[in-house]
Amino acid sequence: QKQQQLDDEIENVRVVVRARPMDKMELSSSSTGSGGGECAITVDKINRAITVTKPNSTANEPPKTYYFDNVFDGSSNQLDLYVDTARPIVDKVLEGYNGTILAYGQTGTGKTYTMSGNPDSPQTKGIIPNAFAHIFGHIAKAKENQKFLVRVSYMEIYNEEVRDLLGKDVSKSLEVKERPDIGVFVKDLSGYVVHNADDLENIMRLGNKNRAVGATKMNQESSRSHAIFSITVERSELVENGGQHVRMGKLQLVDLAGSERQSKTQANGQRLKEATKINLSLSVLGNVISALVDGKSTHIPYRNSKLTRLLQDSLGGNSKTVMCATISPTDSNVMETISTLRYASRAK
Ligand code: ADP
Ligand code: MG
Repeated sequence: QKQQQLDDEIENVRVVVRARPMDKMELSSSSTGSGGGECAITVDKINRAITVTKPNSTANEPPKTYYFDNVFDGSSNQLDLYVDTARPIVDKVLEGYNGTILAYGQTGTGKTYTMSGNPDSPQTKGIIPNAFAHIFGHIAKAKENQKFLVRVSYMEIYNEEVRDLLGKDVSKSLEVKERPDIGVFVKDLSGYVVHNADDLENIMRLGNKNRAVGATKMNQESSRSHAIFSITVERSELVENGGQHVRMGKLQLVDLAGSERQSKTQANGQRLKEATKINLSLSVLGNVISALVDGKSTHIPYRNSKLTRLLQDSLGGNSKTVMCATISPTDSNVMETISTLRYASRAK
């Protein structure tokens, strides 16, 4: 019963929305009134709602409001976001549960800023480096009878193919396999044991660099891949009768592919095929999350995409999930913003 109480402390699935601030170009075009850079959204922190007004909208099309578990406007800082969205999940992982944090949204709205951030300044570090500090801060205060082992891997899914961002060859496609004892796993994916937050940060940077270099080498757009950073925390505890008690928690930190629709005229052949696969995996993810939230579904369609297969043991059950949907504040992006808000509120 005590366990039940713990589980109920935070909801299993939470959805938050973060609007990025206007950039310099948008600010200058909005002050000259040249269009494209007008603000199209209001962020209501009290009611946890976002209202979108379409440009030139008529009485037939009133502004529309969407509600979430929390909302963040352009003035929100990285630490506030961490404390609200990531900290409760990382705490659970340290207790031996699995958790997933996902960033969803149109390219250019702040997914990578939210997940990785700019690691050079403490104020602009994203969820991933803040999680490192949190995990090793916890380990530093561990009781004498507890030992921790932290392992990481970093992969990307591009075009339904899995690649190792920490391996020797990023262009090599790896196989997804399944075994009754350990479940779904990626064959030959490299894993590293890390001893402090700096090690982890270096590994994250290496992976991010490989992601960009790999994309260029293969003539691919890195905004079209899902990047999954996994941290496994194993805690072994000596117990009174001389035995050992081991718990393992896994944290999946996911920077999803851009959610924007590819225009049919621009995309053809290979590009169109890619776009179709991205749309498919994002829609399967949406279906999985809404089935989990609904709670009544007997079938959760994990198997319908590589992304959800690989996240299966960290979505649902007693895992904790938070999706951070990122949006642009300006009217030139309003259609994509509405589509992101719809997707995110469907996940609720
Ligand atoms: P995405 O990964 O979704 O394509 P990025 O994270 O690369 O988007 O963000 C696009 C640009 O906007 C970057 O220059 C980033 O630094 C900036 N940016 C995004 N979100 C914020 C924010 N909340 N505060 C300040 N700058 C941001
Ligand atoms: Mg990005």
